[in-house]
Amino acid sequence: MKIVVCVKQVPDTKGGVKFNPDGTLDRGAMLTIMNPDDKAGLEAALRLKDQYGAEVTVVTMGLPKAEEVLREAMAMGADKGILVTDRVLGGADTWATSQTLAGAIRNLEYDLIITGRQAIDGDTAQVGPQISEHLGIPVISYAQKIQIEGDSVIVERQYDDRYHVLKAKMPCLITALAELNEPRYMTPGGIFDAYNAEITVWGRANLVDVDDSNLGLKGSPTQIAKASDKVRKGAGEKVTLDPTESVDYIVDKLKAKHVI
Ligand SMILES: Cc1cc2nc3c(=O)[nH]c(=O)nc-3n(C[C@H](O)[C@H](O)[C@H](O)COP(=O)(O)OP(=O)(O)OC[C@H]3O[C@@H](n4cnc5c(N)ncnc54)[C@H](O)[C@@H]3O)c2cc1C
Repeated sequence: MKIVVCVKQVPDTKGGVKFNPDGTLDRGAMLTIMNPDDKAGLEAALRLKDQYGAEVTVVTMGLPKAEEVLREAMAMGADKGILVTDRVLGGADTWATSQTLAGAIRNLEYDLIITGRQAIDGDTAQVGPQISEHLGIPVISYAQKIQIEGDSVIVERQYDDRYHVLKAKMPCLITALAELNEPRYMTPGGIFDAYNAEITVWGRANLVDVDDSNLGLKGSPTQIAKASDKVRKGAGEKVTLDPTESVDYIVDKLKAKHVI
């Protein structure tokens, strides 16, 4: 079995979010991590590898620095890493990102493609389903459990207060939730091997069946018009009243604001 996992390098928001003067994220000034949903997707692929002997290839699109996330994936156990990087791919929205990743994946053999459900920076959850659409394969999103049965994949799909069990013939794309599993740690041997391993680097010329009009900033129908911090709520008002007075107090406040 061959599995492709899409991993995105994202800013580590725990270290504080930093912005450029124009309101865009200052990615260079922030620490980075592997997107959490993608790490769970990678762990799911590695467990299938442990069980069935699958080959796991990780793919990322980003700046040359995104190579770090591929090495981390390889230190966890992925077999191959592909970095898709090119100036003409900069400024991509989800449409151009998914076109790029699909163009790269067309070079590869795959039974399963696993992406995260969503990236913690863009937060759109669009890229996985868009890749499946470009490649003409089924997608099962929000996977909380993945099993293989013959040439099919069986997935528990999270759905509000329940889950659905869905079965699809491979090749198929799955979007993974961080709750899917507890990702393994890198091993010292894995880290050593990964930092000596060769990463394949592809540019625009390596993308298959993608038109220039679907790439980079020019190929992006969505552009961020403005980004700003959320308006912080005030400290609020604290009052100490008995239960009956509290109800009257709240009702008066709501009436004053014409809520009721
Ligand atoms: C604050 C903010 C808001 C944004 N809003 C929008 C918007 O509304 N519409 C829009 O089109 N773009 C938006 N963008 C741009 C967005 O970051 C890019 O489109 C991004 O390349 C992909 O979208 P996403 O991060 O939402 O991915 P998602 O669709 O949330 O990612 C799903 C999965 O796809 C895979 N994936 C995504 N990107 C990559 C990658 N580069 N390499 C490998 N795998 C990847 C990962 O497995 C990931 O878990 C926004 C960016 C920011 C910072």
